[in-house]
Amino acid sequence: MAKDKVWVDCPVCGEEKSMEFRKNQVFNASNEDFGKIKVEGLSGYFCKACSDGFFDISSKNKIKFAISEAKAKALSEIVKAVEVETIARLAKELHTSKTYAIQAMREGKVSSVFVAGEMRPFRKSIEEAKKMYLAKKKKKLISH
Ligand SMILES: [Zn+2]
Repeated sequence: MAKDKVWVDCPVCGEEKSMEFRKNQVFNASNEDFGKIKVEGLSGYFCKACSDGFFDISSKNKIKFAISEAKAKALSEIVKAVEVETIARLAKELHTSKTYAIQAMREGKVSSVFVAGEMRPFRKSIEEAKKMYLAKKKKKLISH
């Protein structure tokens, strides 16, 4: 597992020993794809001089999940009900477990829609995930 880096000097503005660990940080973003999102309770290292900084890994994941959820909500209005697929189908197409399939949707690797409060794949997102999966497999075959 990846470990969080302890920042001391600021790599952005070059100030020495200016990085401090901060809790209760808020992340705001707005985007045409998913509208506005706000994630609270984040932590990471930020610079006392220029206020630039880095969220830690768990905070980055929280942001990733929030973005995937917001995208899924936005897509729910576009994707037709007949195109919605089951998580089992996604897992089967990717030759993986349901747990991994859910994780892939939460991380935004596979697009999803919200159906009855649950993230679900849809026809096109499964096709795209399959293509990505096959491309990765090919790459592995070449590099090994
Ligand atoms: Zn700085």
